[in-house]
Amino acid sequence: AVPTAPLRARAEIDLGALRANVRALRARAEGAHLMAVVKSDAYGHGAVPCARAALDAGATWLGTATPEEALALRAAGLPGRIMCWLWVPGGPWRQAIEADLDVAVSGMWALREVTEAARAAGRTARVQLKADTGLGRNGCGPEDWPELVGAALDAEAAGLVKVTGLWSHFACADEPGHPSIAAQLTRFREMVAYAEERGVAPEVRHIANSPATLTLPETHFDLVRTGIAMYGISPSPELGTPADFGLRPVMTLSASLALVKRVPGGHGVSYGHHYVTPGETTLGLVPLGYADGIPRHASGGGPVLIEGKLRTVAGRVAMDQFVVDLGGDEPEPGTRAVLFGPGDRGEPTAEDWAQVCGTIAYEIVTRIGTRVPRVHL
Ligand code: PLP
Repeated sequence: AVPTAPLRARAEIDLGALRANVRALRARAEGAHLMAVVKSDAYGHGAVPCARAALDAGATWLGTATPEEALALRAAGLPGRIMCWLWVPGGPWRQAIEADLDVAVSGMWALREVTEAARAAGRTARVQLKADTGLGRNGCGPEDWPELVGAALDAEAAGLVKVTGLWSHFACADEPGHPSIAAQLTRFREMVAYAEERGVAPEVRHIANSPATLTLPETHFDLVRTGIAMYGISPSPELGTPADFGLRPVMTLSASLALVKRVPGGHGVSYGHHYVTPGETTLGLVPLGYADGIPRHASGGGPVLIEGKLRTVAGRVAMDQFVVDLGGDEPEPGTRAVLFGPGDRGEPTAEDWAQVCGTIAYEIVTRIGTRVPRVHL
């Protein structure tokens, strides 16, 4: 058998922290359901174990982007309500209906396809109508809403569809005071009221993502959809640190030093020789690269904790490895290099990497590749 031991590198996933985060989020959104957003392999943390842990801690819904992700959760035995929202024409509607998923519908083509699939399956499809209240991405805009609501009610009358939810998504919930927040909320209320006046009776109305769950209680309605906060990461440094919200980062990414060697001053390091040793020193080889999701933008800046000292990526990140200047220290090969973690043992955080790379921490954790084993603790 091919060895799978997490010797080279591992992403430890602290499911206890994830459960505590879910409890903290539920306390902030009292009276609302919590949907654990576990799309994209739970933001890189492992969808099935994270989904289980979230349900253990009181989440009552699971959410994914693609129907394939949702079907995989069901196939793994996850119970209860699972919603998926990113559909393209020809998608697996019938399988979704037969797996008891809640499916998002953003337009007439989708409603037609799900209705046909329900007829073929001889079942009622659970449909959540998505309103574009201003994000300008997926969802049905106010001008097309009456037609979509009317068609959904017709399909409901025919027993093919049950409208279980009315929902939307924020554009700028992570920017305190952004005027679009109030505008979207007003439009959401109007679109929900319109649908309800025509006879839609949804189980859940929802619009809040993590930043809205953490900072905008008036947006909680019947359910909050939390992704990033559940993984212990603040949606934006502007809003506060994870600790400010009682959250703890769930993922710790580390690797074993593959080589430690002494080199003279003036030694070029890695492709392009963008780092040249300023004097005699030691170099440590970290066996993780951009194929593992370590951004090439971290070249020359990514922070790493080794034996209690913060080091920096020296030169370019390569596909499978990068180098740090150990300043003359000689840790044993095999010594752990911690790229990021909760941050309370001196290690950097995913936010620190995001800052160095000019991106958001969502991208840092989500991109950690499948070659890095997840170790669920
Ligand atoms: N709802 C939808 C529709 C999403 O696409 C996402 C993720 O982008 C979320 C909720 C969760 O967002 P966050 O990770 O900010 O909580």
